Amino acid sequence: MYLALPKSFPKQDAKEIKRIVAYAYSCGIRGISVFTDFHNAGENISFYNRLEATITISSSLPSKVFKYTLLHELGHYLQDVEDRFKIMYAQNQNVISIQNDVPTEDEKEDILNYEKNAWERAELVSKVLEIKLPKDFYTTKAEALESYKNMPEIKGFKKE
Ligand SMILES: [Zn+2]
Repeated sequence: MYLALPKSFPKQDAKEIKRIVAYAYSCGIRGISVFTDFHNAGENISFYNRLEATITISSSLPSKVFKYTLLHELGHYLQDVEDRFKIMYAQNQNVISIQNDVPTEDEKEDILNYEKNAWERAELVSKVLEIKLPKDFYTTKAEALESYKNMPEIKGFKKE
């Protein structure tokens, strides 16, 4: 359950991140790791791996964005936990499937709703853990959703 956090993270954030990590494991997450972004692409390349039920967060993020991203990826895991109980899931492993390289308007809407829902779950988890979400949480959320709105020509787009 140990997660090596960048030493630059303020104590309060590190503390809350560790509480979220502990909670994630209590929900059945199989692993959480930090990805060192050597290329420093400046993009948030964090993701949830649904086959392995693991979360990877990029280490180059500021501590607060790191925390919010962890909550968001945990939100995706919780979506999967819920989906296990849906018949739909048994028939189709992918909640959202993109038929072509460029998603249709309907597919875009599905993805956006899926992302919004993961953020809602992130907020729920914060409530359970009594972690305050200041304004910048909503800025991070809005920016992330905006990036999906412009989603566009992502080849072989996979929801993450
Ligand atoms: Zn997401």
